[in-house]
Amino acid sequence: MSILPATGASFAAETDVAVVGAGACGLVAALMAKEVGAEVLVFERDPAPQGSTAMSSGMIMACDTRFQRAKGVADSPALMARDILAKNKGEAVPKQVETICRESGPAVEWLADTHGVPLDLVQGFLYPGHSVLRMHAPPSRSGAELIGALTRAAERAGVDIVTRAQVTALFADGDGRVAGLRYRRPDGKEEDVGCRALVLASSGFGGNKAMVRRYIPEMADALYFGHAGNQGDAMLWGEALGAALADMGAYQGHGSVAHPHGALVTWALMMEGGFQVNARGERFSNEHRGYSEQAVDVIAQPGGIAWNIYDVRLDALGCEFEDYRQAATAGAVLSAPSAEALAEKAGLPPQALARTIAAVAALARGEGRDPFGRDFSAKPALAPPYHAIRVTGALFHTQGGLVVDETARVLRKDGSRLPNLFAGGGAARGISGAHVWGYLSGNGLLPAVTLGRIAGREAARLVTARK
Ligand SMILES: Cc1cc2nc3c(=O)[nH]c(=O)nc-3n(C[C@H](O)[C@H](O)[C@H](O)COP(=O)(O)OP(=O)(O)OC[C@H]3O[C@@H](n4cnc5c(N)ncnc54)[C@H](O)[C@@H]3O)c2cc1C
Repeated sequence: MSILPATGASFAAETDVAVVGAGACGLVAALMAKEVGAEVLVFERDPAPQGSTAMSSGMIMACDTRFQRAKGVADSPALMARDILAKNKGEAVPKQVETICRESGPAVEWLADTHGVPLDLVQGFLYPGHSVLRMHAPPSRSGAELIGALTRAAERAGVDIVTRAQVTALFADGDGRVAGLRYRRPDGKEEDVGCRALVLASSGFGGNKAMVRRYIPEMADALYFGHAGNQGDAMLWGEALGAALADMGAYQGHGSVAHPHGALVTWALMMEGGFQVNARGERFSNEHRGYSEQAVDVIAQPGGIAWNIYDVRLDALGCEFEDYRQAATAGAVLSAPSAEALAEKAGLPPQALARTIAAVAALARGEGRDPFGRDFSAKPALAPPYHAIRVTGALFHTQGGLVVDETARVLRKDGSRLPNLFAGGGAARGISGAHVWGYLSGNGLLPAVTLGRIAGREAARLVTARK
């Protein structure tokens, strides 16, 4: 990932705005840049747009939307910002959080109403730390459906997506003004394309083992469950151009990936009454703090393994999620009429599991206090037959990255703006602060969609004003 001198470069083609990466951030940026009147080219290393966006549950956090109002949910940018900052204990930059929250409702409504992305408010459970229902997702609750809808919207809008095109270098002058990029085809052929502004939407560095080891050593040997193509290119280019990086140790983990089946098992099971035990059949944490930090706790258990324990009621809730259905089809879900029988199937100590299930049932009846501090009394106690899924903890995506201002413009270390470089989504510093526990559910697609939209708008304005 290099920076080449702009002086003397000659370009086979030119565009107003170039976008690196065709995940949610890149496609939203391109849609917006096109709408403002700029010519746009998106470069994607894969044969089709996918990214971590396609692997996600497609849940976009947004506030004050018509979807919320239709269901009687009262929300506001201030309330959403409060929830986000509470989760990361005030570590995120308040101004960035406020901008993103303010932009979230209009962004989701624009995607649905102008671009036909089938989004609606997700009901039935709250993720940890959310005061109200504010996740917006496609019907299947899958990122594959989301990226498919975004790709079709981009095609309808006349956005050109150059696939099988890995951007390997940027051309820039001494002041950090980007003049173009070089991309490589799978057969090794290279082409140089000029641009007047560049949006980095190539996400984070989860797929780059060396960078994970350097910035997030606690997850260096953990399963990476995000997109392999996210190699930290944006950060490497940004650094070389003098950009500031921040919160590089922040990431979204997840404590519930079916193992060895490799499917995300929704945390809704935990929020509605399920819990986790280790190989000794014992609980080890408060599952309601958040699924991100739970990744670290699960990895710390014997063998790096936990079991989600739940029941038929929660199985029905899980079945609302495409990923869960896939896990079930793959045989990940065990079921048995009693705690002891379930333990036999799972290879857990029967007496210990029966004791744990009985203890949680007592907590659900309001008897005693959970040593880990979780309140079980608001949800029904689990009822036989019981279910179990073997899970592990994983790194989903990195949250640190390029420091941007409220116009998604990349900033230098002294706080000044690089002339024509923008970033969003996993490429930019996120809103989770500096630690794994700062991740509030939705902090992934939210900055992808909102910063992507801002970046596309501002990049297009910059170049169309200069024309
Ligand atoms: C299993 C899972 C579930 C998740 N669920 C949710 C959820 O429900 N809600 C939520 O808010 N967040 C969720 N997240 C996080 C969310 O998916 C990411 O935060 C979000 O998709 C990031 O979007 P992006 O556009 O920045 O990156 P991506 O979607 O990863 O897109 C980046 C793209 O850039 C391309 N690229 C990289 N480098 C280059 C290069 N040099 N040249 C060309 N192309 C390049 C990649 O191939 C990729 O297509 C989840 C993550 C995972 C892994």
